[in-house]
Amino acid sequence: MPVLSDLGIAQAIVANGRWAVQLNWDRYLEPIDVVLGVPKGTAGASAPFATALAGWQSAHQLHVDGILGPDTWTVMRRALAPPDSLTGVVPAAMPPVPHGFDEIIRTFGDPRPLLEPDGTITSTSLARWERQILAPCPVAFPLTVGGAGQTIRSFQCHRRLVGVFEAVFDELDRRGLERAIKTWDGVFAFRAIRGDTHLSVHTFGAAIDLNAATNPLGGPGDMDPSVVAVFQHFGFLWGGDFHLRKDPMHFQYATGY
Ligand SMILES: [Zn+2]
Repeated sequence: MPVLSDLGIAQAIVANGRWAVQLNWDRYLEPIDVVLGVPKGTAGASAPFATALAGWQSAHQLHVDGILGPDTWTVMRRALAPPDSLTGVVPAAMPPVPHGFDEIIRTFGDPRPLLEPDGTITSTSLARWERQILAPCPVAFPLTVGGAGQTIRSFQCHRRLVGVFEAVFDELDRRGLERAIKTWDGVFAFRAIRGDTHLSVHTFGAAIDLNAATNPLGGPGDMDPSVVAVFQHFGFLWGGDFHLRKDPMHFQYATGY
């Protein structure tokens, strides 16, 4: 068991207070405490946490400093769930999956007052809606943007779903499914459903399109069933299960709509 000096512990306490916010691991403190074998409720910015973490780092061939920074967090986030089970780390503030339009607007907000009489939206109103609902979501591995070719490490989604999308991509990463995600084809888009008048779940930043090139609207597509299972685990409805018009590139955090 490596021992941190008093100074090392003091530095780790300060650093852990900072990283808890920056890496947002504070919300996983309960499973982290379990992994470290410290009493439930042990604060991240505390001497027992830093000491236990130093031991954990040593056992995992990591640099031993008692600090849960980016390198240690990359290894630990995978340790927070058993490797063979589809449990993931359930985000703390996951909203219940809304069912039907009324619950969707209660959960994600109502853009209708911002619409013009013909159902379109001005750039000013759109910017206002985006400010109201969107927040950046970092993802565990680089995503290739469909059609554009550049890669992204984060995207804009509904602010209440940041933890949910993050957990999905963590789980895809943990299960080695990053190669099954060929392209990222968008989350937020203010649009009516094609050929229809009502608002797409993308309008709320609550749906994601993946692998669009090989999963066109109306066809069976080639979405990996393991990817579908991960999204379903976190409450998403897969467009490949739509009854009327299959949309296999599409996953949405809403049902009955
Ligand atoms: Zn879609």
